[in-house]
Amino acid sequence: MEQTTSSRPSDFIRDIIEDDFKTNKHEGRVAVRFPPEPNGYLHIGHAKSVCLNFGIAAQYGGTCNLRMDDTDPSGESMEYVESIIRDIRWLGFEWGDRLFFASDYYERLYEYALQMIREGKAFVCELDVDEMREHRGSFTEPGRESPYRDRPVEENLALFQRMRAGEFEEGTHTLRAKVDMSSPNITMRDPIMYRIKKESHYRTENQWCIYPMYDFTHCLSDSLERITHSICTLEFENNRPLYDWFLEAVNADYRPQQIEFARLNLTYTVMSKRLLIELVEKKIVCGWDDPLMPSLAGMRRRGYTPAAIRDFCDRIGVAKNDSMIDMALLENCVRDDLNQTAPRVMAVLRPLRVVIDNYPDDGVEEFDCPYHPQNPDMGSRKVPFSKVLYIERDDFMEDPPKKFFRMAVGREVRLRYGYFVTCTDVVKDPSTGEVVEIHCTYDPETKSGFAPDGRKVKATIHWVSSAHSIPAEVRLYDRLFRVADPLEGGEDYVKHLNPDRLEVLMQCRVEPSLATAERESRYQFERLGYFCVDSVDSSVEGLVFNRTVTLRDSWAKIVGKGEV
Ligand code: ATP
Ligand code: MG
Repeated sequence: MEQTTSSRPSDFIRDIIEDDFKTNKHEGRVAVRFPPEPNGYLHIGHAKSVCLNFGIAAQYGGTCNLRMDDTDPSGESMEYVESIIRDIRWLGFEWGDRLFFASDYYERLYEYALQMIREGKAFVCELDVDEMREHRGSFTEPGRESPYRDRPVEENLALFQRMRAGEFEEGTHTLRAKVDMSSPNITMRDPIMYRIKKESHYRTENQWCIYPMYDFTHCLSDSLERITHSICTLEFENNRPLYDWFLEAVNADYRPQQIEFARLNLTYTVMSKRLLIELVEKKIVCGWDDPLMPSLAGMRRRGYTPAAIRDFCDRIGVAKNDSMIDMALLENCVRDDLNQTAPRVMAVLRPLRVVIDNYPDDGVEEFDCPYHPQNPDMGSRKVPFSKVLYIERDDFMEDPPKKFFRMAVGREVRLRYGYFVTCTDVVKDPSTGEVVEIHCTYDPETKSGFAPDGRKVKATIHWVSSAHSIPAEVRLYDRLFRVADPLEGGEDYVKHLNPDRLEVLMQCRVEPSLATAERESRYQFERLGYFCVDSVDSSVEGLVFNRTVTLRDSWAKIVGKGEV
């Protein structure tokens, strides 16, 4: 098979695949798969595996199946299947007609089980959970064989068929593989192949009341699909001998090669599906697509781009040892992408009214503002300017400290794309003393953004016209947790939630070009960060923006000070 070269740095998995080409190990084929269990939405860790598997298939002209490893009726659902499909497509990968379900193999797996029973390789066990645990032994002690291990084949066959027919209660009978109770690898101590579960399955409904275990199903599904390289995360290293044992036991005509890599761990979040489900169920977040979630649906709603996530997965690479990746790296990938692709517009999040006293009362000018200073191809839009503006409350100070160069009484600053203005006076709320309005004069000679006499200003601030701007709600998202590893020191991760993970600002004003902004479109709000039109709550009547990421890494400084 023709190998495509790419600029991508190689990794140990690609090295194995390239060596296999040289020795013609799989007749030059590369067939991989991404095998999620549809019991939750995909998260950024899954993205690493998706990019790896689909990336390898694309790079080497191979195939990548999408297979739902749906072996457990509890917790699996069509909603999850659909979300997985949606999220992988969004990431930019396609599988054509290669969508498979382990549940489609139930009948074949049952046949394999019968074959193993007939060959004396599996038996029906009547130990209950506690007894089985007690027989299993430990890391230091070998296990003990089940008293049911040597049942005659006929009896096993009859019992297994009765299990399938629904004659026994849950927990009373299991089918177990006869491997080795004294193996130092506990996975090999006569593992369960089938258990009784009288639960309806989202696809097979009530057709089955026995369900194959993941370990039995997974390796045989890979074999049935003639997967050449079964790429999985490190925790399955111990299961590999069992997979090989099952393939041998059923005399599988195809034996995939398993390769393990380190899973992605990210700081300031949690990633196990169990905990993500908990966040949803406890309503700590508003759903799987909450922009605070490390789920792909959440990141999408937050404004992360597929290109940024793919770039992140490329940059972290693939290795054999577990590590913790800094969230800042992912955020930087998002910034790098949006810096090039997001149009730049003006929005004021905490408005302060500015009146330009010497500007005509009904005067309006339209400034032609480019969407991207470095990329003229992105075009421009008109931004109206008038006598009454809003600027950011933070951009004015009554008693400015030495290093504050923005607006203050007596100070001249530049309005982005417009005039120089000098603050002359402030109006205060008589009851609170709060500045509610500032007065300025403008210099009509500075429309170009420069003064003909060459005088300089130390700050350029953004603004919107009061009469022309439109209201918007802006949700300022920050990291979900306050500490890098929320699970350090126990399971009580909730106490580490970042109290500032979301701040909602209802009084924001955005420039009028955003009136037609489409859901999910992303912008840089000049000087403020990157923002995305919320895909659920935003509408023409009420614009809602989510902050995707700040312009700079504001956490680097805080962590540096040792405050976190
Ligand atoms: P979780 O541990 O979050 O519950 P899981 O491993 O049970 O996830 P699956 O649906 O079984 O979730 O995962 C599908 C595939 O994604 C598996 O091949 C798994 O190895 C891979 N995967 C899951 N989490 C990560 C991760 N953090 N980094 C890399 N790959 C991952
Ligand atoms: Mg799993």
